[in-house]
Order: sequence, then C-alpha cells, then structure tokens
Amino acid sequence: MIAILVGVVIGSCGVLTGFYFRNEAQRSFQRMDFLLDQALNGEKIRREFSEDYTSKLEEKLSNFLQAKNLQQQSLEVEQDSVKELISNIAHQTKTPLTNISLYSQLLTELQPQPPADKYAAEIDKQTGKLTFFIDNLVKTSYLENELIQVKAQENSVNELAEETVASVQPSAMQKNISLKLVQPEQNFTSYFDKRWTKEALLNVIDNAIKYSPAGSAISVEIRSLESFNQIIVTDQGIGIPETQQGAIFERFYRGENSRNTEGLGIGLFLTRKILQLQGGYIRVNSRLEVGASFFLYLKKS
Ligand code: ADP
Repeated sequence: MIAILVGVVIGSCGVLTGFYFRNEAQRSFQRMDFLLDQALNGEKIRREFSEDYTSKLEEKLSNFLQAKNLQQQSLEVEQDSVKELISNIAHQTKTPLTNISLYSQLLTELQPQPPADKYAAEIDKQTGKLTFFIDNLVKTSYLENELIQVKAQENSVNELAEETVASVQPSAMQKNISLKLVQPEQNFTSYFDKRWTKEALLNVIDNAIKYSPAGSAISVEIRSLESFNQIIVTDQGIGIPETQQGAIFERFYRGENSRNTEGLGIGLFLTRKILQLQGGYIRVNSRLEVGASFFLYLKKS
C-alpha cells in the first residue's frame, strides 16, 4: 500500500516537474522568438532581467543580436559612402575625359607624321576604354542609388529582341559569327523599360560574341512561361566553370578563363540590376569549353 502511495507521489511529482519544464521551455522559446523578431526588424532589443539560467541565455543572445545589428548598420553606412564615392569619381572624371577624347580626335584629324600618328591612335584607343568604363560606372551608380527611373510598361519582347540583335549584328559579322534570332510566330508582351532592357540584353549578346570563337553560332530565342517571358541567348564559346557561375553577376567580377579578353566586369552586374528593378531576373547555364546560355526573365504583368 505504502509502496503504491510512494509510487503515486513520485509519479505526480514527475508529471508536475515535466509540466513545469515544458512551460519554462515554451516561455524561453517565445522570448527567443521575440528577441529574434526585434533583431530582424532592426529594433532596439529589450529584454527582461532576472537571475535564472534562461535569462542568462537570453542575455547572451540579446548581446549577440545587438552586436550584429550594429555591425549591419555600420556596413550600410560604409556601403552608402562607397556608392557616393563612385558617383563622385564618375562625375568628376566625365568632363575631362570628354575633352581628352575630343582633342585626341582633333589630333588624329591633323594626320601627324610617324611615330606621332601611332601615339595619337593609342591615346584615342585608351580614351575610348576609359570613357566606356566611366560610362558604365555612372550607370551602375545611378541605378544603385535609384537616380534612374526604370519605368516598366507593356512592351513587345519580339521587338526588343529584334532591335537589339540588329544593333550587334555588325560586331558578330566582324568576327564571322552567325547571330540568329529565332522569332516565334506569336507576339509576346512583358512589362519592362525598353531603353534599359535593351541595354541589359545588349550586354549579354555582346558577351556571347566576345567570349565565342570566330566562325561559331549564337542564337537568341523567346519563350513564354506562366508569369514571365524568357529571352535565351546561347553561344558556343569558352563557357563558365560551375564554381564561378554565381560570381559573374557581381560588380567587377571577371572570370579566370576570360582574363585575356578585354572587359571590366560591369556588364552582367548592370544587366541583373536592370532586370531586378522591373521584377525580372537572370540566370546562366554553362559548360566549360562548350558554351553558355543566359536566360533573361521579363514579367508578364
Ligand atoms: P566582362 O565581360 O567585362 O568581364 P561581365 O560582367 O559582362 O564583364 O561578365 C563577367 C564575367 O562573366 C566575364 O568576365 C566572363 O568571365 C563571364 N562571362 C560572361 N558572359 C560570358 C559568356 N557568354 N561566355 C563565357 N563567359 C562569360
């Protein structure tokens, strides 16, 4: 009898202790959840003070999250000052560069005697490169600071592809590359800013030409998906190793196998930015030394 009573008492204590710990654990999880929400919303972290073990854990978590928040804030300040710096450099160099370009053209027109003619041609070439770089820097910094309005409105995807392909056809021909647009029978429309999206597509086709051997083929296709229209640019060029396929969309990133081709590592960064600003995106599929396909997604509505 006594043994049964002792058993019941021990059992009840066990159940009660179980309930107590379960409630405590639940309370702690709710507190952690609350702290994490505060941190994720960037709010100042408020915590309850008490001496128990869970409170000490909360304190550690709270200190950690507070430090993380501060780190995030200083990172954002740093990023803003880098953007401002880029924007300033771009603006300060633009006018002198335009002038150098003008004078170097005037110099070339004077048909100087050798070796001055070579020097004039070299100045002209290098100025062109620098101007291209600064122009792209200005565009990216404007887009990042949202100083440029990318106004998405209903436009024909077929027209966009047709006009862009036509504008790069001469450089494909120069390299004896067959650049073909596979026009669908139907006309597809999406919401995008025509001027900027042309620039985005141009960067991708320009790359396809740049990173492909003479005599190869590039195709541009349009496909309709459920929420997006897709433009696919496929080449038979050097390809991109799988490990670098995520990085190629970062600013100033240049692939290891493309170092002996001229470039600045800005084109794809700009392309991705333009597409993102109008609800689209870009992805790549590639095999090294076989070729690459870039998929540009444009929202249907
Ligand atoms: P850039 O061409 O000036 O280097 P991009 O931002 O346009 O800069 O491209 C980033 C990198 O992506 C390139 O350096 C190259 O390594 C890789 N890449 C882009 N397009 C292709 C392509 N069609 N084929 C192979 N590699 C490519």
